Amino acid sequence: MPGLRMSAMNVGPLSCDTNLLVAFAPGHNDVPTTAAVFEHPKHGVVLWDTGINDTMADPARADDYWGAPVRAAFGAQGFKRDDAVDRQLDKLSIKTKDVRYVVYSHLHLDHAGGMSYFPDAVHVVQRDEIRYALWPDPWTRPVYCQKDFKDIRNLNIFEIEGDLDLFDDGSLRLVKAPGHTPGQQVLIADLPNRGRICLAADTGHQRAGFESMTPMPWDWSTGAMTMTRMHMKQLERSGVPLFFCHDADDFAKLPSGGKYWD
Ligand SMILES: [Zn+2]
Repeated sequence: MPGLRMSAMNVGPLSCDTNLLVAFAPGHNDVPTTAAVFEHPKHGVVLWDTGINDTMADPARADDYWGAPVRAAFGAQGFKRDDAVDRQLDKLSIKTKDVRYVVYSHLHLDHAGGMSYFPDAVHVVQRDEIRYALWPDPWTRPVYCQKDFKDIRNLNIFEIEGDLDLFDDGSLRLVKAPGHTPGQQVLIADLPNRGRICLAADTGHQRAGFESMTPMPWDWSTGAMTMTRMHMKQLERSGVPLFFCHDADDFAKLPSGGKYWD
């Protein structure tokens, strides 16, 4: 699509034991949380994921917001007010009210934290994700922060089921990729000069875990995750580069800090 361009933002620096991201992996890791903003020539600003809520930057309220054990386990203490997606958009001279669409890979607390910043946008989410997020299985309950959803019933929610070509022009295609959560989706953007790229969300938390098909401890279905990863590997073989949300090397390859890919 001529005129389409994108930039990435780290909307949630985390520092955690690697085994929280890749089961049984040794070591400790500083990781980004990647969101992206697209400027579509006809349809305006589209945001991909919303990162961590700004309350997490306030030491007095952060433990209460996520729960102290989750905050400590993911090492969110380094999250600053300027890391939140509203401030990051501001740095790109994009006002939150200018965001027309917010598209969610899934609704975990590092992806849906900024939901309330965009009361005027259309919020695009898989139907089984939004249902599951509001009543998750007990094991996954800590990573769906119900406080992120305080305004969810007042928002314009566009529920989708399966794959969707968002504007029916091939520019931004959503592909359902369940496993990490029931309704995870990835985004394939077709940029005029760079070509197709895939923002692969949490289909891999670290590239090594993706390559070895190792689950993440909070994966909803390891079987579905395997099938999704086989699909993602075929995308990669077909020449579509994958960028995982929490892989620092992948984030470093993406344009950020005022740089764009078109
Ligand atoms: Zn995540």
